[in-house]
Amino acid sequence: MNPVEEALKIKEQIISWRRDFHMYPELKYEEERTSKIVEEHLREWGYRVKRVGTGIIADIGEGEKTIALRADMDALPIQEENDVPYKSRIPGKMHACGHDAHTAMLLGAAKIIAEHAEEFNGRVRLIFQPAEEGGNGAVKMIEGGALEGVDAIFGFHVWIDLPSGIIGIQEGPFMAGAGIFSARITGRGGHGASPHQTVDPIPISAETILALQTIVSRNVSPIETGVVSVTAVHAGTAFNVIPEEVEMKGTIRFFKPEIGDLIQRRIREIFRGVAMAHGASYELSIEELVPPTINDAEMARFARRVAEKYGIRHGGVEPTMGAEDFAFYLQKVPGAFLTLGIRNEEKGIIHPHHHPRFDVDEDVLYLGTAMEVALALEFLR
Ligand SMILES: [Zn+2]
Ligand SMILES: [Zn+2]
Repeated sequence: MNPVEEALKIKEQIISWRRDFHMYPELKYEEERTSKIVEEHLREWGYRVKRVGTGIIADIGEGEKTIALRADMDALPIQEENDVPYKSRIPGKMHACGHDAHTAMLLGAAKIIAEHAEEFNGRVRLIFQPAEEGGNGAVKMIEGGALEGVDAIFGFHVWIDLPSGIIGIQEGPFMAGAGIFSARITGRGGHGASPHQTVDPIPISAETILALQTIVSRNVSPIETGVVSVTAVHAGTAFNVIPEEVEMKGTIRFFKPEIGDLIQRRIREIFRGVAMAHGASYELSIEELVPPTINDAEMARFARRVAEKYGIRHGGVEPTMGAEDFAFYLQKVPGAFLTLGIRNEEKGIIHPHHHPRFDVDEDVLYLGTAMEVALALEFLR
């Protein structure tokens, strides 16, 4: 069986699935219609299906080894501005990240794998997950048993920064880890004309914000990457009143867990140190939302060998500071998060992910399917 030839045979089917999902986008944890369609097909093709909320874990085959392939199914709260026949029929909701394409590509792979089940020397597990967009659906799927018995996992994202039809493979850190922090600095309020009788939290917060900006510039090695952004500051209501407290929020991004730890430690030290210097108190909470997506080097090399064997064009892909909950699977099981280039300037497909005019070059989706089938076939040899 040649995965590329098989995928090419169902190229139009993959496109029509994608258009159907595109027309009826569903937000995180609301993927009822999408998952129902996926489940019906999988049952018809002989998969053993387990439900985890609006997510699906589906197995086929038996053997010593198990490979998992993952697609995400959720859309975004965006009003589509594309003028295409398959435009979103749901106001204010749109598949603007390409998860419709991911679901369609993996459905295509599911069909091919089922039709050639006897050629796969092991078990293939398909994970159709909800809520990648800020919902950490991956965590729910893992809690639901998605990784039990799994030896390797691969996921795909269509990628607007890569030319159409190229599989992007990056070893090591590929997408950033992300965290948020929120804080409250409490001083002692009073009259604006009598600052000496107060502990003014506003200059204390200003000093804190400036000090936070030294984490990336002075503490993180210049060779490494990190982001600390204070994105919200709220205090006071009047011209002549020194407020009691200042509230702040922000986000952090990092590629390496140790840089994430360093950033968090320095944030804590800065809040503590600046507050102490001025006699203020503070509350601080830092929450790590998503770890960095770190592709296993051996699995990335394996993917490259598979692409070469079947003549699938591939190349490197630049890491991004965006975050992806596929990282949770990679914390537990070796694997890689791969990309499929969908940028096609001639067709006007140039808008970034999460843009109201985002679209994908549908003519190459079969290559994602082919690569998924090929990864399973070769891993289970
Ligand atoms: Zn997205
Ligand atoms: Zn996405």
